[in-house]
Amino acid sequence: MNVHESEKIAGILTKLGYIEANEGEDADVVVFNTCCIRDNAERKATGHIGMMKTEKKKNPDMIVAVVGCMTQQDGAGRALKEKFPFIDIVLGTSNLALLETYIPSVAASRAKYVDIDDNELPPINENETFYRTSGTNAWLNIMYGCNNFCTYCIVPYVRGRERSRTKEAIIDEFKRLVDEGYKEITLLGQNVNSYGKDIYGNSYGFAQLLEDLAKVEGKHRIRFMTSHPKDFNRGLIDVIAAYPNICNNIHLPVQSGSDKILKLMNRHYTRDYYLDTVAAIREKLPDCGITTDIMVGFPYEEESDFLDTLDLVEKVRYSNAFTFVYSVRKGTPAAEMPQVDPLVAKDRIMRLIAAQNRITKELSKEYENKVFEVLCEDLSPTKKGCVCGRTDSGRLVTFAGGSDLIGKFCNVRITRSQSASLFGETEE
Ligand code: SAH
Ligand code: SF4
Repeated sequence: MNVHESEKIAGILTKLGYIEANEGEDADVVVFNTCCIRDNAERKATGHIGMMKTEKKKNPDMIVAVVGCMTQQDGAGRALKEKFPFIDIVLGTSNLALLETYIPSVAASRAKYVDIDDNELPPINENETFYRTSGTNAWLNIMYGCNNFCTYCIVPYVRGRERSRTKEAIIDEFKRLVDEGYKEITLLGQNVNSYGKDIYGNSYGFAQLLEDLAKVEGKHRIRFMTSHPKDFNRGLIDVIAAYPNICNNIHLPVQSGSDKILKLMNRHYTRDYYLDTVAAIREKLPDCGITTDIMVGFPYEEESDFLDTLDLVEKVRYSNAFTFVYSVRKGTPAAEMPQVDPLVAKDRIMRLIAAQNRITKELSKEYENKVFEVLCEDLSPTKKGCVCGRTDSGRLVTFAGGSDLIGKFCNVRITRSQSASLFGETEE
């Protein structure tokens, strides 16, 4: 989502006549697109912004802007400006478009702007231009914001309530992307399963949208994220099964395998409900790659809760898991709860990662000697004379080939696996 938002920022800069600066080259405009989902993301952003002080001394005409989630936190926009007075523009998450007027204004008169829009239901801007950087894949936002208020999460506070784009706007953009030659389109939303509820009630939802998009002609793949398990609609599984261009790949963040912790997190599902959903997916989509997000060290998490998480991981056998140590976010309910000892959390994350790595490795072995359709995305960043791409289930494969294969669907036999990496060769 943040990568796509950066494409919007770059789109605005392109419209203003700016071009991408080469690495190490002095830029005229630097925009920091920040994230505050965890403390380390915030610290990273603050560190990078701080480093601009010397750059700005060398080149006082340089324009520095800070946008994104971090600025949208209570009072954070002004605090940033006070800490780093050299910043020229601070904007929040919903008024990014103002960069288009503020940048020329700063360039002309060195004006300074701190502008954060606190509206929880900001209108959707349908006039965005993107400077796409994602190669064969294009991101497509179907909705913005979140209504769920998981007790650990800052997103609803900094991104407002759920707002769905109209199906017409989405289908139009989708068709344009297909016409432009994108071979894979990834639909984005914090909880795609509640798509449409705000504008269509129960008369049109994510499953219908997905079906309408799957019917658009052309050879391309559709992916989507993120699916909140509480709203995971079983009808969606049938739609995925019915259309080969919808990838068999579902990101279904579980967060914890303990009912006690799930309740404290305000996730609105139990471990059994989650496991039933996974069983329903596996029954109709046996080759589906299921990925997840898992957190350890949430307040009140005891060893037995963590063992429930480990047990769930063993049962589901995720193809990949994004694992996090819980990070206190000011203003969220969990910040007021008793915190787990960081050393205990560290030990748990290591054990969780070890379990998941073993499972990924075992699953990788199952790919060997089988042929998969792989969408070639790019030259391999590590292996000379090789390219890389993804299977329908979302696994990355490296195989011999050159740039002529980029954007093509190739049949690849997996010859070898190494942990999460798959290696193969093309077949006719
Ligand atoms: N809307 C998505 C998640 C978006 S945030 C969903 O509900 O699944 C991406 C991931 O960051 C979350 O799934 C969660 O695992 C993690 N996360 C969010 N807040 C966090 C916090 N305070 N500390 C640690 N991890 C967090
Ligand atoms: Fe955060 Fe929960 Fe919303 Fe995901 S669903 S963005 S974790 S509040």
